[in-house]
Amino acid sequence: MTRVINFSSGPATLPEEVLRQAASDMLDWRGSGMSVMEMSHRGPEFTEILAHTQSLVRDVLGVPDHYAVLFMQGGAIAQNAILPMNLMGATGAADYVVSGVWSEKSMKEASKYGQVHVAASSRDSGFLSMPIQSEWHLSSSAAYVHMCSNETIGGVECHWTPDTGHIPLVADMSSNIMSAPIDVQRYGLVYAGAQKNMGPSGVTLVIVRRDLFGHALPITPSAFNYQLQDEQTSMYNTPPTYAIYIMGLVLQHIQKLGGLEAMQTHNQRKAQVLYDYLDHSRLFFNRVHRDDRSRMNVTFFLKDESLNASFLQGAEAQGMVQLRGHRSAGGMRASIYNAMPLASVERLRDYMHQFEKSHT
Ligand SMILES: *Cc1c(COP(=O)(O)O)cnc(C)c1O
Repeated sequence: MTRVINFSSGPATLPEEVLRQAASDMLDWRGSGMSVMEMSHRGPEFTEILAHTQSLVRDVLGVPDHYAVLFMQGGAIAQNAILPMNLMGATGAADYVVSGVWSEKSMKEASKYGQVHVAASSRDSGFLSMPIQSEWHLSSSAAYVHMCSNETIGGVECHWTPDTGHIPLVADMSSNIMSAPIDVQRYGLVYAGAQKNMGPSGVTLVIVRRDLFGHALPITPSAFNYQLQDEQTSMYNTPPTYAIYIMGLVLQHIQKLGGLEAMQTHNQRKAQVLYDYLDHSRLFFNRVHRDDRSRMNVTFFLKDESLNASFLQGAEAQGMVQLRGHRSAGGMRASIYNAMPLASVERLRDYMHQFEKSHT
C-alpha cells in the first residue's frame, strides 16, 4: 500500500490512525456485531457514539453549556440558506463581510430570505486580504453579522476575532475549525462542514447560542430548524451516522495530540515552511496580504505559468497530488489541514526548490 501526500482542499487527508481504527471497527464495532453504518440511529450503540462525539466537540473547542452542538446535513452551502431562515427573522436583515468566494456566496444566498447589507468587502482588491475591523460598517438593524474565518479558495484567513458588539457574530469555519483555539463565547453561531478538518463529508457541525432560537421563518424546513434539531439531539431526521462516528475519532485524535493549542503550533510551523520559501523564491509567489495568509490553504503562482503543467506532473511523480488551485483562482494551492504532517510539507517545499533550480 502506498498513500499519496494529498493536498486536496476537501474532502481532505485524514489522520492515518483514525482510518486504521475505522478499518478495525468496520465489521464489528466494540463487540456489537455490527458496523457503525448498520446501526439504528436510535439504538444504544449509536446513541453513545453521538453523545461521545458531541462531548468531544464541547471539550476540544470549549463550547459552553448554553450553546447547542448540532450535527446537520447539506454542508456549509446549505447553511448559507439554513442560517438566514433561522436567525434573520429577528429583524429581517443581516450584515455580511465579504472576503472571498465563499463569503460572497453566503451573502448572495442570504438575500433570498431578507435584507442583506455588505458591511465590508475586499472584492475590489481581488480578495487578497481580510477587511480590517475599522472598515466594517455594521448596521444597527442586523440580526447577525456573517463572516468566513478562512477563505479556502483564496487562502485568506482571519487571525483575529471581530467585535460586533451586541449583534451576534456568525462564522463559516469550514476550513479552519479545530486548527487553533477559538473563544466560542465571542460568536453567536459557528458552522463548518466536516470534510476539511474533522472527518468525511456528509455532516455539518453547527454550534449556536440557544438564546438565538425562536426567530425561524415559517418556511424553514423542520429538518433544518436549529431549535427543533437541538430539542431532538440532532435526531429529528436520521443523522449522518458514519460521518459523526469518524468525526469522533478525529476529535479524540486531536485531544491525544494535545488539543487545539498543539494543533495551532503544528499548523503555524507548517505554514511558515511554505511562506518562508515562497517569499524568497524567484519562481513562485503568494499574493495574499501577509497578516491574512491562511495556515490551512497556501495559494501560490508560478511566475511563468507555462510551467504549471510540468510542475503538477513532477509533483505527482513524487506522490504529491491535488496541488492545482481552484478553477476560479488558478495557480496552485496546498491545503495543509491538521492531518498533514510537517514532513510532507517539507517534501513539497524541497520539490518546489528543486523545480525552481532547474527552471530559473
Ligand atoms: C468547503 C467550503 C464550503 C462548502 O462546503 P460544502 O460541504 O460543499 O457545502 C463552504 N465554505 C467554506 C469556507 C468551505 O471551505
